[in-house]
Amino acid sequence: MGQCPWCGSPQANQRTNCLNCGGPLIPIHEVGGRETPVPPPAPRPISERYKWRYIASDIGTITGLFVSFVGAIFFFMGLAFLVGRETRLLGVAFVPIGALMVLAFVAAGIRGYRKAVRFVRVLRIGLPTEGRLTSLREQHNVEINGRHPWILHYGYTVADIDYQGEVRTLDDPRDEYQVGQPLCVLYDPDLPSESALYPHP
Ligand SMILES: [Zn+2]
Repeated sequence: MGQCPWCGSPQANQRTNCLNCGGPLIPIHEVGGRETPVPPPAPRPISERYKWRYIASDIGTITGLFVSFVGAIFFFMGLAFLVGRETRLLGVAFVPIGALMVLAFVAAGIRGYRKAVRFVRVLRIGLPTEGRLTSLREQHNVEINGRHPWILHYGYTVADIDYQGEVRTLDDPRDEYQVGQPLCVLYDPDLPSESALYPHP
């Protein structure tokens, strides 16, 4: 079992494409005993489905869904309250609050969708450049399947402009990553602020 270099999910070695994101699973080249990441040339066959999986794993979008669900309950309770003479004032408060919560989700959903589209685009057509790991931090306040996610921050430069990127992973990255080490960064040539690490930590 190895890891998909595009999305980080575990993959059987004999596959040619990742089941999760559709990315090509080519062996990472061994040079001088050290693994050097060499992404295959663009465009890469990242699946359209991965966009939705990426959205589903986005904690902000999940939170937005929950808020929208509660908001919808508020909204319909408010409508019911408006009918009753004694509860009308409650209805007047609940309806707009519920509507605002639903609207907040729609906004979060559009933001999450655009983020996923930009990310999939980087995996498909991103150009490689050398970046550097700037920090490595465990998120103690977040727990997923009994583990704390890690955030890796990195910097890279395109046309003399410095950019920052970050990536989350559930695997403890400390064995393989040290602050200051060079990394392969893929960036969108039309929007260099959008980037991903190759391989995915
Ligand atoms: Zn994958």
